[in-house]
Amino acid sequence: MLKIAYHPIYAHPLPKGHRFPMIKYDLLPQQLKHEGTCIEENFFLPKIPDAAPILAIHTQEYYDELIHVSLAPKAARKIGFPLSKALVDREVIITDGTITASKYALENGIAMNIAGGTHHAYTDHGEAFCLLNDQAIGARYLLQQNLAKKILIVDLDVHQGNGTAEIFKNDPLVFTFSIHGANNYPFKKEKSDLDIELADNTEDNKYLEILKTTLPKLIKNQKPDFIYYLSGVDILATDKLGKLGCSIQGCAQRDLFVLETCKDLEIPVMCSMGGGYSPDIKTIVEAHANTFRIAQDIYF
Ligand SMILES: [Zn+2]
Repeated sequence: MLKIAYHPIYAHPLPKGHRFPMIKYDLLPQQLKHEGTCIEENFFLPKIPDAAPILAIHTQEYYDELIHVSLAPKAARKIGFPLSKALVDREVIITDGTITASKYALENGIAMNIAGGTHHAYTDHGEAFCLLNDQAIGARYLLQQNLAKKILIVDLDVHQGNGTAEIFKNDPLVFTFSIHGANNYPFKKEKSDLDIELADNTEDNKYLEILKTTLPKLIKNQKPDFIYYLSGVDILATDKLGKLGCSIQGCAQRDLFVLETCKDLEIPVMCSMGGGYSPDIKTIVEAHANTFRIAQDIYF
């Protein structure tokens, strides 16, 4: 069965007018249940985890400042959320969702988190709506528990996974791969193990061609025994922050290719959602829902 981490705190409300579409975390599970893609049993409730897996990635000082909500104003501004205990709890719970989903993925081939993909979080600071790096935490947890030996992170959110790249820059056990907009945030990019930069307005055909010629080769060379997939839907032409030109069908083809590749090669995959900032919330939910529909279709 497809297991999906979801907690009501994922949609913790933000002050009115805040530009982050928090509501999607409520609407997506509702939609998946409404249309019959998922039933209640597909979802599991993550909790506040031990600090140890988080501290295997993030510094004690940064973690303490987060959980005591005592970050310096400048550091808090870089994150862009009005920080509160609830919002920090939310992010901590998301990391448990990703850790637990990683274990489910080992059992079932795939598991997902209705949130996460917080790839702008560095070891010692957060940025751009990312406090803690959930997939980095999951990856190191699997390695430390001897549940994986070599991990590939496939980051297809339109923004570069700068935090993830920094975290694993000297770690030969985690290969970081990011396809992102060249002219997009972060403007000062880190060096992933493999970065592919796309020009503004890149459309489906070009995008899919690059993905299809790169990913299988990468897997062949790196031989990962576990894959993290960051399936941001901010590659859509409609996205306010994206700058690319992909259609919703192209985005679904992207998900299908990544998940089919993992399934065919029998490499467990854990999927976090990542960004999506189209002006119509329906577009965002539909594009994310496709990732979950495809997972159900091809695995179960
Ligand atoms: Zn993004």
